[in-house]
Amino acid sequence: MNESIFKIDNLSVEYKTQKGILGQKQTIHAVNNLSLDIHQGEILAIAGESGCGKSTLAKALVLLEPAAKGEIIFEGKNILQMNKSELKDFRKKVQMIFQNPYASLNPKMKIIDTLKEPLKINTELSNEEITQKVIETIHKVGLDEECLNLYPHEFSGGQRQRIAIARALILNPEFIIADEPVSALDVSIQAQIINLLKELKESYNLTFIFISHDLSVIKYISDRVAIMYLGEIVELGKTEEIFYTPEHPYTKALLNSVPQITGNCEQKNILKGDLPSPANPPLGCKFHTRCPYCMPICREKMPEETKITDTHYVKCFLQQENP
Ligand code: SF4
Repeated sequence: MNESIFKIDNLSVEYKTQKGILGQKQTIHAVNNLSLDIHQGEILAIAGESGCGKSTLAKALVLLEPAAKGEIIFEGKNILQMNKSELKDFRKKVQMIFQNPYASLNPKMKIIDTLKEPLKINTELSNEEITQKVIETIHKVGLDEECLNLYPHEFSGGQRQRIAIARALILNPEFIIADEPVSALDVSIQAQIINLLKELKESYNLTFIFISHDLSVIKYISDRVAIMYLGEIVELGKTEEIFYTPEHPYTKALLNSVPQITGNCEQKNILKGDLPSPANPPLGCKFHTRCPYCMPICREKMPEETKITDTHYVKCFLQQENP
């Protein structure tokens, strides 16, 4: 197993809501005491329903959301305590690709200026070297240099996402967080972008966090998968462990909920009910309000993490010998 590039320790991220009709603000526990190691060179997928906290976790890792508690260690240093020059270096090494490539590109800037900007701010390269680097990078994502003088609206969704990937690559990062990078694209284009990310990971020894609610994409691209529920990781394992020997009832229900092209819409043990509000999470195991195997203890105590194999962990009383 490779070394950890990111080490997240007991991280919590919280939001305050607007005042309600009773004049009180509520606290949303978007990420709750979450611990996770991300290994150098892997694609770690984070899966779960909308609202489970996966995008908030991603934003906390690039300091777009403040942490309420915990530590985020990157290459041995806590990013929450970095000074200005350490942060500048961190921001070069860690980049993010967003879901909507149109919203993430400045519509008033030509592509060449969008790609030159990070190099001007973060490097000492000459103008000529910057232009050369931009041309090299646009080729890496499968586009021609003719596109550099165009504006974002002149491209298709897939081409815009390639440009967003080029911008993420331009500073030679070590780590990329891709937050639903294909869910705004047509199905026919999704495979091209997924394959491009896989090729780039191999060619440049990148490490990825890949956030998605699409389990078929996750199965194809990832090395390991973390399943999130209401701000916590409830199961973590190698991709084959999660897909072929899932242990947590939530993971099993998520997998059973994937529509099949069988002509038969009847599915067994699919996920029922809605995700509870993270402002009022259930006591005990947070999944107990939807779990078909709920026991009295599940309503009172939170399950500890149980080791299934050296690489597979689950938080469920069904896996504990003496709960
Ligand atoms: Fe279900 Fe209990 Fe396991 Fe939670 S701990 S997933 S409620 S069986």
